[in-house]
Amino acid sequence: MSERHVDFALIGGGLAAGNCARWLREEGADGSILIVGREPDLPYNRPDCSKQYLRGDESRDDVLFRPPDWYDEHRVEALTKVSATSLDLQQRRIGLSAGGEVTFGKALLATGANVRRLNVDGCDLDGIYYLRTLANSDTIRSEASGKRVVLIGGSYIASEVAASLTELGSTCTMVMLEPVVLSRGFGEQAGRFPQSRLEEHGITVHGDDALERFEGSEGRVTRVLTKSGLELEADAVIVGAGVVPDVALARGAGLELGESGGVHVDSRLQTPVDGVFAAGDIAEYDSVIHRRALRIEHWDVAFNHGKTAALNMLGRDQPHDVVPYFFSDLSDWVSLEYVGPAAEWDREIVRGSLDDGEFSLWYLSGGRVVAALSIGRSDDLEDARRLISSAADLGDRADALGDLSSDLGEI
Ligand SMILES: Cc1cc2nc3c(=O)[nH]c(=O)nc-3n(C[C@H](O)[C@H](O)[C@H](O)COP(=O)(O)OP(=O)(O)OC[C@H]3O[C@@H](n4cnc5c(N)ncnc54)[C@H](O)[C@@H]3O)c2cc1C
Repeated sequence: MSERHVDFALIGGGLAAGNCARWLREEGADGSILIVGREPDLPYNRPDCSKQYLRGDESRDDVLFRPPDWYDEHRVEALTKVSATSLDLQQRRIGLSAGGEVTFGKALLATGANVRRLNVDGCDLDGIYYLRTLANSDTIRSEASGKRVVLIGGSYIASEVAASLTELGSTCTMVMLEPVVLSRGFGEQAGRFPQSRLEEHGITVHGDDALERFEGSEGRVTRVLTKSGLELEADAVIVGAGVVPDVALARGAGLELGESGGVHVDSRLQTPVDGVFAAGDIAEYDSVIHRRALRIEHWDVAFNHGKTAALNMLGRDQPHDVVPYFFSDLSDWVSLEYVGPAAEWDREIVRGSLDDGEFSLWYLSGGRVVAALSIGRSDDLEDARRLISSAADLGDRADALGDLSSDLGEI
């Protein structure tokens, strides 16, 4: 490939790019579509890497966003194992690691995120794993199944991996800064029930602690030491310490980054360069619902961003007006869903029973619903979306959120 031209260049072979290609075709785009992805797989559902795929309940084909035939049928060329190495926004040209260049009419930047790596003594020992890709998931399944595993972090990734590995016969211990799992984004009330389910299944959770260092023998990790003085024997360590947006290409092209370090785009997901969009984990977009810039690393956001970007590539002038949604499954022990996100809140109202694991939790700020979380009460989230979008000050009516006899639809 020396130089060629495509109408739509979608950079990054993840969900945002895949769903953008789909919606371009569904909405009648006739031009050429090229996806450039550096992983060996076609776009796939990354959340499965810590869930069904990790447990061996799904095959590689099962997790694909679309089966391989779909790309031919819809005239979408998807390059795998190929990186976009340069982006020239004046010439509207992309350089490819496979050699050659591609000029484009419109482009989507959807390069996702990379894991945040730890930098403590012993962090280079073998047996310390991070999870972002199917390949990482394969390695963790083969190296950590049935072993003593220490998980660093109390987020959903560490919690999900602890649950999945426990199902695979591992003995799991979690070490985290937070007092309770999942409490960083959702608060302590939300995290208590999921933590109790993890503990009931034999997972030990050490909250309010921090990693000090790793120790090993013959180049392989054998122990995790914490600031509070714990010494935990480990055959494998899994780190879930968050992600950072992969903006290397965008930064190299001179695009403006937002406060969160993502690529700043307007409410139509367009960068300041006409016809160049950003979506998914890298995009910091002006939210018409939240009236502030948001960058959110959630599956559903990447999915819906892909659609909004496609519509705007076709000139539809469509603001991204979807309330962000998140889900997490700890094996089949707990399913959590959340709409928001809340940057801060001054009141939490519980609807249902926290102890029985059938509740929704409503986050309010100044009388307005800013987020809601459900365990076992998914239907409540439809009303939560409506209330978040309306930004109505509920005043005294907010109390009804916690009253199971009240009709949410009437609030
Ligand atoms: C283990 C795990 C579990 C998760 N579970 C959940 C969950 O339960 N719920 C939820 O809401 N979210 C979950 N997420 C988050 C969700 O998967 C992401 O938000 C979503 O995948 C982001 O999609 P994306 O297309 O923006 O980026 P990505 O999926 O990261 O895709 C970007 C792709 O671009 C490629 N790329 C980067 N630079 C280049 C380049 N220069 N050239 C070519 N290709 C490039 C990357 O290699 C990557 O393949 C999970 C994530 C992980 C890792």
